[in-house]
Amino acid sequence: MRILQVEDEPAAAKMLGKGLREQGYAVDTAHDGVDASYKAAVNQYDLIILDVVLRGQDGFGICRDLRTAGFSGPILMLTARDSVEDRIRGLDVGADDYLTKPFDYLELLARVRALLRRRRSPYVETIDVGDLRIDLKAHTVTRATLPIELTAKEYTILEYLASRRGELVSREDLSEHAWDENYDPFSNLIEVYILRLRKKIDAMHEVKLLRTRRGKGYMLCADSVTASDA
Ligand code: CA
Repeated sequence: MRILQVEDEPAAAKMLGKGLREQGYAVDTAHDGVDASYKAAVNQYDLIILDVVLRGQDGFGICRDLRTAGFSGPILMLTARDSVEDRIRGLDVGADDYLTKPFDYLELLARVRALLRRRRSPYVETIDVGDLRIDLKAHTVTRATLPIELTAKEYTILEYLASRRGELVSREDLSEHAWDENYDPFSNLIEVYILRLRKKIDAMHEVKLLRTRRGKGYMLCADSVTASDA
């Protein structure tokens, strides 16, 4: 999942970005409203974390602009003070949730997870693809009930493919949702990660779940395929 954080204080942005990346999210940072609108227009974000107190246009104005421009994903606002007026204002301009600064980092992560889950359905906590199970809350993966150890990035990629199971996911889509703006489209990073994921998920099993369509993309699906198709 790819997140845009809008924060003008470099130290705060760096800390939050680092923490989110450790959880496997791809994170871009915008320092003001102009930057935020530009990035939201050219990249596909699954969630935006928006600080209210910014130099120039404040978070309320930015939130309204993002919604007007068609951003439909969840927006989590970081408010400076816990006032009812601020919360109402935030909700009125299109925010989905708010958190008061200073916030507990673990609570922020929980809100982020909840908002991302809500996009699918609030009650979906696991995705099953055949005997592969992805636990969206715990960020754990099992196949035939046996745990599979994945790195944060591998998990991010698998979760995205699982959220679109049965569909062909293009390299562009995958890079948009699993990498930040530093992704080099000419690198072979995606291939490398897919290879590792396939090893961990499919190597020991007869039924291969992760397929490659050469030149087109990848698909996670439970229909039985032989290794030669994969
Ligand atoms: Ca700020």
